[in-house]
Amino acid sequence: MEIIKIERKILEKNDEIAEKNRSIFKKYNLLVINMVSSPGAGKTSILENTINILKPRFNIAVIEGDVQTDLDAIRVAKYDVPVVQIVTNGACHLEAKLVNDAISNLNFEKTDLLFIENVGNLVCPAGYDLGEDLKTVVVSTTEGDDKPLKYPRMFLNSKILIINKTDLLPYINCDINLLKKNALQINPKLEIFETSCTTGKGLDKWCNRLSSLLEDRKK
Ligand code: MG
Ligand code: ZN
Repeated sequence: MEIIKIERKILEKNDEIAEKNRSIFKKYNLLVINMVSSPGAGKTSILENTINILKPRFNIAVIEGDVQTDLDAIRVAKYDVPVVQIVTNGACHLEAKLVNDAISNLNFEKTDLLFIENVGNLVCPAGYDLGEDLKTVVVSTTEGDDKPLKYPRMFLNSKILIINKTDLLPYINCDINLLKKNALQINPKLEIFETSCTTGKGLDKWCNRLSSLLEDRKK
């Protein structure tokens, strides 16, 4: 009983700071996307490709969450966008407070789109609001088709699902239709995109969706 109470308090505090973050994002009319997945699903690869495609039209910034290293931040920074690294020193998710600290290092005057790459973990990032507009969950085909059933909360709390590494489908035991069915069973409103960062297939559709979300904001 005691433990549950403590966790609630932590989450209440987190939600308060998330609201502060949200009001900052709103002030600058930013679209903020919290990218979540298990480790190795391809969040950073998707970010690299997305930045490459959208950079000529939109100003993009990135907050990178990692347990220990700044390897992903280095990858993303090569695309010449502002990147702030959060190293959680072992913690398995980002909290609104950490994002709030990162925000103070970014200038949003000219930013349209902010990506927050969360720590690779399909469990607790589902419960931590960072102040984002939406969560995008990435699942790779190599993880199998049962992930949505095993980690329902993440799929329930996400608005977009990206199924990545579709180029590997011929070689592995993953039924993509079953994967989609399982995801929609948990969350019938999920928008689903299929991508391969190796061949580039499907990235245009995902980027077009982001473009339309960004254009909607300008109206
Ligand atoms: Mg990464
Ligand atoms: Zn965690």
